[in-house]
Amino acid sequence: MPRDFLKGANDEYDVIVIGSGLGGLTVANVLGRAGYSVLLLEQHYKLGGMATWFKRPGGHIFDVSLHGFPYGMIKSCRRYWSQEIADSIVQLKGIRFDNPMFSLTTTYNREDFTKLLTTQFKIAPAKVAEFFETARGMNFYDDQSLTTGELFNKFFPGREDVHRLLMEPIVYANGSTLEDPAITYGIVFSNFMSKGVYTFEGGTDLLISLMEKELKKNGVDIRIRCDVEKIHVEHGRVQSVSVNGRTIKARAVISNANINATIFRLLGEETLDKQFVEEARAVRLNNSSTQVYMALNPGETIDESLGDLFFTSTAKEFKTDLLLSRDVTSRTYSIYYPRTRPAGRPRTLIVSSTNAHYGDWAKLSDDEYEASKQDLIDKTLDHLDQYVPNIRERLAHVEASTPRTFQHYTQHVAGASFGTKFEGLAVSRALPAQVKGLYHAGSVGIIMSGWLGAINYGVIVANDVDALLMKQVGAATQPVS
Ligand SMILES: Cc1cc2nc3c(=O)[nH]c(=O)nc-3n(C[C@H](O)[C@H](O)[C@H](O)COP(=O)(O)OP(=O)(O)OC[C@H]3O[C@@H](n4cnc5c(N)ncnc54)[C@H](O)[C@@H]3O)c2cc1C
Repeated sequence: MPRDFLKGANDEYDVIVIGSGLGGLTVANVLGRAGYSVLLLEQHYKLGGMATWFKRPGGHIFDVSLHGFPYGMIKSCRRYWSQEIADSIVQLKGIRFDNPMFSLTTTYNREDFTKLLTTQFKIAPAKVAEFFETARGMNFYDDQSLTTGELFNKFFPGREDVHRLLMEPIVYANGSTLEDPAITYGIVFSNFMSKGVYTFEGGTDLLISLMEKELKKNGVDIRIRCDVEKIHVEHGRVQSVSVNGRTIKARAVISNANINATIFRLLGEETLDKQFVEEARAVRLNNSSTQVYMALNPGETIDESLGDLFFTSTAKEFKTDLLLSRDVTSRTYSIYYPRTRPAGRPRTLIVSSTNAHYGDWAKLSDDEYEASKQDLIDKTLDHLDQYVPNIRERLAHVEASTPRTFQHYTQHVAGASFGTKFEGLAVSRALPAQVKGLYHAGSVGIIMSGWLGAINYGVIVANDVDALLMKQVGAATQPVS
């Protein structure tokens, strides 16, 4: 008989959270801590969603999306998770760039960037200061017609080298492009520029295990291998979900699944306004990624001058389509020195990431798919060899992932790494007006994605849910935030 992953689960909860990405985990934790009964349902056998890792023989642990996040993570983790989690967040100091326009290393904060822009790129200090202030002053309610490309041209006309320096890490951080609204750039750039780029010491596995401990402490009922099939609605109000052959009721349901999957797969359009459905249909997915995971032989080390996060490109120009092309020119290497996991076995790993289109991988036959993955690995090793000589001989393990891999493990439509484009946020926020008690908290737009964005969005939605449930009988016993 198949194992019952819902054994002992109640028939009813205050709150059901569908999906255990960082957004879903955070909603569950905040509401559990506030005293609500919370059921967290995850279809995969692991918690974390895109915030994940995998192990390979020889003591190698690969992080999939732990490449860098802004300083704001410390505060969010301290307030909504635990001091222990916040205390493990450390700065990555070696951010490197190498492309036909420039080569440099930076700590990637405002002070260092100002120095680089004024000395190496010869931009007037007043112009740099004005740009930083403009980026910092941008907010969600600003005019959205100005694009990032136009913003750059306004401040640094004709300076493609400067555009590249300013944009390349942000493209990598959230898949945004020169054609996206400038505010999506301004907000994320300012977040990073506040104090540089950070990581979680101990790795994603440690983070998620600490989060799981916290959820259990707060009484959250966590269930893995529970694939929610349907969200049920009656008279405009959410009632229950169908999962693993059971129907479980809740006063509020929060979906951490992709917004597109939430609306069109889990909910269905019957209960929704026509205009809302049209707006939801028009939401564009964000791009996906390919990655090559490389583990060096035990005992092999590399000089830390290689950097922690290394943006490389062989393209002469900086263009959005080049960044997504199957004919890869841009690779961002994350280097995980043994200090990444101080309590683990001393291992050095390198992960190469490139943004990618799902469509370029979706239709390949099995044989073509395997050959394309091998080609991706071969070309990456050829490229990396100039920075890590004899890389092939020094490797204990290498493998690749593609947009199909991300779709397979997280059910994200088209394997989108950062959810949707900017317009997804308005649709996500409008969902409770369509179905009372139903919320979405997951990567949408450019601000509400990435590790920090997903956690912060989880907090915002937990507050909304609390406000709804507070109006009903049996409110939480503790304040939400
Ligand atoms: C290759 C890559 C590199 C990245 N690098 C960085 C980085 O360096 N810094 C950064 O800040 N961000 C990075 N990101 C982005 C970041 O990881 C994500 O934005 C964030 O983790 C998404 O969190 P989320 O809450 O939206 O949920 P997701 O991680 O998308 O998780 C959604 C969860 O819902 C589950 N689910 C879906 N449908 C169902 C269902 N029907 N029933 C039950 N469960 C369901 C899925 O299995 C999954 O666990 C990267 C992403 C990728 C793919």
